[in-house]
Amino acid sequence: MKLLRIFCLTIVTTLLFCFFIYALDKDFKEERSTHFIVYYKEGIDRDFIEDIIDAAEGYYEEIADDLGYRRYNFWLWDERAHIYIFPDKTSYQKETRQPDWSGGCASYRDKKIWTYPHAAGFFDSILPHELGHIIFREFVGFKNEIPLWFEEGIASYQEKSKRYAAKSIVESFISEDKLLTMEELSNIKNAHDIVNSEIAEIFYAQAVSIVYFLMNKFEEYRFAILCKSLRENKSLDEALRKTYFNIKNTEDLYKQWLKSLNR
Ligand SMILES: [Zn+2]
Repeated sequence: MKLLRIFCLTIVTTLLFCFFIYALDKDFKEERSTHFIVYYKEGIDRDFIEDIIDAAEGYYEEIADDLGYRRYNFWLWDERAHIYIFPDKTSYQKETRQPDWSGGCASYRDKKIWTYPHAAGFFDSILPHELGHIIFREFVGFKNEIPLWFEEGIASYQEKSKRYAAKSIVESFISEDKLLTMEELSNIKNAHDIVNSEIAEIFYAQAVSIVYFLMNKFEEYRFAILCKSLRENKSLDEALRKTYFNIKNTEDLYKQWLKSLNR
């Protein structure tokens, strides 16, 4: 439980820090795959670079599937996403200005991710989470103000450990009568609104659990329609109504989600 709390805060803080990073192309060697270019400094083990490429391409397929965009082969040729590998933690921190606990970070607009070999949680958490953000924004654009819980729910859903732990975490918070209402979830608009680690834990668990409900309860293709509505700048309430017909708004979604937990 404690590990999860630390990680939740890690992600929130990552969102804050990553906007300060700029392209660092010089002095990097590169390795290309279908949808990614991995840049790395001399001396980094080639097996590690291969592992990164395999993992990134695997997550690309899974996330595009989850969001209903499998048939679009995006990020080809000049549109590839970039992953930068620094030789070690020290150089990563120095160049990206990340705090000590950070194992990787991303710029969603630029489709860029930065990390270093053997960063804790990179393959299982950071890589799928950040790719979740980047691919989601690829489809909905950057104009729309999407509720943070929804966006973080989609990104965190890509981390298998979070996806499958969410239900039991939510249930334990229900039994303690600490569940956040939809209004409380929606009022969390940035990291500063998450006042302590317990709120972070329940915010992320509820967000993942509601997204899980939406992705698995209804036909797969509907999620892509929802993203299209969000791209057209519709509010999440409107987009839900237009996509699912029997979901009136986020409050209604919340009620149906809660009912699915037999509450
Ligand atoms: Zn995130």
